[in-house]
Amino acid sequence: MQNISKEDYLSAIYKHREIDGTIKANQIAEKLSISNAAVTDMLKKLANDGFVDYRRYKGIKLTNNGEEYAKNMVRRHRIWEVFLHQIVGMPWDKVHEEAHNLEHGASNELINRMEEMLDFPAFDPHGDPIPSKEGIVPKQKKNIPLGLLKEKGKVKVVRVNDFDEGFLNYLSKIGIELDKEIQVKEILEFDHSILIEVNGKETNISSTIAANIFVEEKKV
Ligand SMILES: [Zn+2]
Repeated sequence: MQNISKEDYLSAIYKHREIDGTIKANQIAEKLSISNAAVTDMLKKLANDGFVDYRRYKGIKLTNNGEEYAKNMVRRHRIWEVFLHQIVGMPWDKVHEEAHNLEHGASNELINRMEEMLDFPAFDPHGDPIPSKEGIVPKQKKNIPLGLLKEKGKVKVVRVNDFDEGFLNYLSKIGIELDKEIQVKEILEFDHSILIEVNGKETNISSTIAANIFVEEKKV
């Protein structure tokens, strides 16, 4: 089994909260694919070290210290992702794993220099916000999951969930990337799949896929 570090726990809590609000111990276990007992042990340790506020059966909260720590880890991770994507030319489905291996090793100076070289990107290749050196988190434009769209028309991709390489790889195959314009042609009532057109090609995507793509509605 892979070694899961304190950093991984704190990042997981932080990232979950970015999207869904508070997190419970069993959700962390699920996210990191480890046992509930292992998570409980680590949470006690993190609480002792002052990184999380943890009470059984209640949600887990990052303390100010934990928040600062996690934010910096997430920042490092996402700057690496932009670097690997833009400079090295790696596809968006490959950068997460590589960035994960690199984020721990680099000095703050290297991260800051990379950020400057990349011209201070606000979002990573999946559309997740990159906290600044001062800890300021860029605001995402108003968006909704493609699956919750009520009307046909043009939309723009502003974020995708990055937890699964296969999912991201599939999106690339059908031409979906960040900032891409999608034409929604039909929303099928009976199975909630959606017929879209990208680059002049029609594809029917499942409701699961549509739930993990976030779009901004375009005014026509
Ligand atoms: Zn990412």
